[in-house]
Amino acid sequence: MEITPEITRLKPSATLAMNELVVQKRNEGQKVYHMGFGESPFPVHESVKKALSMHADKKYYAPTQGILTLRKQICDFYKQVYRLEFMPDQVLIAPGSKSLIYNLIVALEGPLLLPSPSWVSYQHQAHLAHKEIMLLITSPDTSYLITPSMLLASLKNASMDQLSQKLLLLNYPCNPTGQSYSENQLKELVPILKQNNIIVISDEIYSLISYNNHVHHSLAEYYPEGTLITGGISKDRSLGGYRFGVLLIPQGNENVKRSILSIASEIWSSASSPIQHAVIEAYKSNKMLGYIQICTRIHEMMTNYVYKRLNEAKISCVPPKGGFYLFPDWNNKKSSLKSMNLHTSYDLAEYLLETYNLASLPGVEFGMAKSDLSLRLSTVDYDGSLVLNKFMENLSTIEKNSSEFISEFAPNLVASCDILEEFTSSLKET
Ligand code: GLU
Repeated sequence: MEITPEITRLKPSATLAMNELVVQKRNEGQKVYHMGFGESPFPVHESVKKALSMHADKKYYAPTQGILTLRKQICDFYKQVYRLEFMPDQVLIAPGSKSLIYNLIVALEGPLLLPSPSWVSYQHQAHLAHKEIMLLITSPDTSYLITPSMLLASLKNASMDQLSQKLLLLNYPCNPTGQSYSENQLKELVPILKQNNIIVISDEIYSLISYNNHVHHSLAEYYPEGTLITGGISKDRSLGGYRFGVLLIPQGNENVKRSILSIASEIWSSASSPIQHAVIEAYKSNKMLGYIQICTRIHEMMTNYVYKRLNEAKISCVPPKGGFYLFPDWNNKKSSLKSMNLHTSYDLAEYLLETYNLASLPGVEFGMAKSDLSLRLSTVDYDGSLVLNKFMENLSTIEKNSSEFISEFAPNLVASCDILEEFTSSLKET
C-alpha cells in the first residue's frame, strides 16, 4: 500500500512515541528513568470515578457540541475560578483539546505565528492543515516569552500585511519551558495583537498548575474578542486518558463555532457520552479545587527540586513558574559534547537513554534549532497515589523536609537528577 508523500514524512508524535518506548522497556523488565512524557500521576478523584461508573449506560451519541449540563457546569467553573463569563453556547467539547486546536488551525484563515520552543504537536498539526508557519524565536533571557518588541520585529521582518488575519498559538504555563505570562506581560501584548489582526489560540491546559500561589490570568481578560481558550482536565485533574477537551469561543463568532462543529461532526461525532457525564463532577469547583491545589503543590515541590538539582549541577535552566516541565540546555558544553559526537539535542537525548536509561525529549522536537542542545524534562516519574497520601500525612512538615520526602517517595526523580549531574560533571569545561 502506498502512503501520500506528505504523511510519509510524518512521524508518531514525539511525546507519545517516547512514552510507549519507555512502557515497552519497562514491560521487558528494564529500569528506565522517565522524564520523557507529561502525564500527571495522581489518582482519579472519587466523585469523578463514581460518576463514570454510574453513567456506563449512557450509550447514545451526544450532541457534537457537548451535553448542555456539562457546558453549563463549565461556564460556572470558568466564572468562579477564572473570573470569565461565558454562555453554554460558547462552549465546545471534544475528545481532547488537541483535536480542538487542530480544528482551529484548519478552520481559521491566516498564517500561524508559533513561538519556538512550543509543544511538539502544534507544528505538525499546522503542516497537516497546510498552514503557513512563522516561528517566533524566543530566548531563555526573556524566559522564552513573547515580548512586544520581538513580536513587532518579527511581524516587520516578515513584511506581513497589518490588516490580514493571523493566528498566534500561546501556551501558558508553557510546555516545554514551564514559563508563564503575568497580567502585565499579557496586557502589553494586546495593542499589538489588535493592530495586527492577530487571533490567539490560548492553550491554557496547565493554568491551574501555577506555582507560588500565582493566580492565572487568561489573555481573554484583556483581549476577549480575539482569544479562543482551550483547556481540559488532562493535567490539573490527572485525567489525560479520559481524552476530554474544551474550547471557549468569544461571543458573536457563530461562523467559528459552526466551522469547528462541522469538522468535528465529520470526524469524531462527539466526545464519549459516559466521559462527558463523569466530567460534570470534574468541573464542580467546590469539590475539585482542594484536590487541584494539593496536586499543584506537589508538582511545584517536585519540579523545583529538579530545578535546584540542575542548578547545583551548573546546568543552565530558567526557573519554573508552572506545569511539570523544565527546559535546560547544554549549549555552554557544545565543544565537549562535540568531542563525544553529540551534535544535536537528538544525539544528547539518545545518549542519555542508551547510556543511563534516562528518557527525555530533544528540544528540536519543540521547534528549537538543530544546533541547540536543550532537552525537555518532565517531573512526574513517581507513584502519584502514594505521594499524594504521604504528602497529606506530612502536610505540616513537608516544606522543611521536602528533599527527604522526595528521596523516600520519588526515588526515580532523585536518580534522574543524579544521572544528569554525573553526566554533566563528566563533561570537560569549555
Ligand atoms: N502533553 C503531554 C506531553 O507533552 C502529552 C500529551 C500528548 O502528546 O498528547 O508530554
